[in-house]
Amino acid sequence: IAKNPAEPEFHQAVREVLHSFEPVLEKHPEYIKAGIVDRIVEPERVIMFRVSWVDDNGKVQVNRGFRVQFNSAIGPYKGGIRFHPSVNLGVIKFLGFEQIFKNSLTGLPMGGGKGGSDFDPKGKSDGEIMRFCQSFMTELQRHIGADTDVPAGDIGVGAREIGYMYGQYKRLRNEFTGTLTGKGLTYGGSLGRTQATGYGCCYFTEEMLKTKGESFQGKTVVISGSGNVAIYATEKAQQLGGKVVALSDSNGYIYDPEGIKLDTVKQIKEVERKRIKEYLNYHPNAEYHEGCSGIWTIPCDIALPCATQNELDGEAAATLVKNGCIAVAEGANMPSTPEAVEIFLQNGVLFGPGKAANAGGVATSGLEMSQNSMRYSWTFEEVDAKLKQIMANIHKSAQDAAKEYGHEGNYVVGANIAGFLKVAEAMLAQGVAY
Ligand code: NDP
Repeated sequence: IAKNPAEPEFHQAVREVLHSFEPVLEKHPEYIKAGIVDRIVEPERVIMFRVSWVDDNGKVQVNRGFRVQFNSAIGPYKGGIRFHPSVNLGVIKFLGFEQIFKNSLTGLPMGGGKGGSDFDPKGKSDGEIMRFCQSFMTELQRHIGADTDVPAGDIGVGAREIGYMYGQYKRLRNEFTGTLTGKGLTYGGSLGRTQATGYGCCYFTEEMLKTKGESFQGKTVVISGSGNVAIYATEKAQQLGGKVVALSDSNGYIYDPEGIKLDTVKQIKEVERKRIKEYLNYHPNAEYHEGCSGIWTIPCDIALPCATQNELDGEAAATLVKNGCIAVAEGANMPSTPEAVEIFLQNGVLFGPGKAANAGGVATSGLEMSQNSMRYSWTFEEVDAKLKQIMANIHKSAQDAAKEYGHEGNYVVGANIAGFLKVAEAMLAQGVAY
């Protein structure tokens, strides 16, 4: 904490992960001798830079850009870029740190990294977004590459932003390589990437439910957020027979007891880029409530937090348990506070932590990298089948590791350990001078 002041999210992520490693370090004293834990919490490289750009009034604006290249033991750094005013070094470090274990869990050769900026895309014109993305990439391009570091999208960075950044990368480097993922289908993107995180989260949830002889069929589902992850989690939950009754944004949430009409949400969020409360203009029987945290008071069987970190606290977790919720899977990164996680685990709620449950996005980014290297494209069905298999494998790895280390049924410990072991072995093999 003294070494990394004012980084509470990073401390929270590290504390949770290191706690899980205790039984592993007892079994593998060689990891302690080789300083694996001391090294794994220290990013290999942190890049911070000025991003200046000109707004529509001709005024120069200045934001801060970040790229944390956390760990490259098992592959090139890989992780998204987030544009949100809450972004700071600690947030990017927490996300990059989690990414190391998540990427390892996918079974694909990807190291951990993350980046972003405190730029707020909300209310900006298309021209402003483009100029910001170009300026951001003008600096970032010298630090990344298809075999070095491959960024993707995250909060505030979707297909439009990736397009502008990729265009600028290509212009400056004069190469057409798979340096970003989440690209459009006309220039190297993978079918299924847009859906991957949300779909993957539901595939993981389905695997957890199977262990109790349950499924999505006939279940009431509450999903927070209304961005990329939330929209496609809703789509898959509905396809699997669940009834999604609520979605949110940072201002409030909608409750539609008859079931959310996803076409309306896609029109509002993906086409018009408006607020979720617009839903009531189309479906006046639904309800809108100001404030996003109230969403967890809606009774449900399954809860999928898909918005942002620490959006579900102890009180919300206790309410979910009281209302009979049986499964929670994190589509977002670290949406549940440590108190909330503890309440879920103590009450026998099936709990899928983000680094396992939302790994489908980066896994499909890994598949996009493979397709780019082959200069070939798989069909949607091929990508989706691989995603489903990867999510089942992640579930099994986490389940097996939890059992082996004496925490049966605890996917938090299981995912941390399963993700860690491969990275630790690779770091050990590559020597300390690296
Ligand atoms: P989007 O920008 O598409 O959507 C984010 C959603 O979360 C929006 O509805 C947004 O509401 C809401 N949100 C953001 N910040 C807050 C906040 N502080 N309080 C309440 N609501 C908030 O992002 P994604 O859907 O891509 O990402 C959502 C989460 O999933 C993040 O934690 C991300 O790291 C994680 N994730 C994403 C992956 C991907 O492939 N996209 C992969 C793995 C994890 P508003 O519009 O009001 O800001």
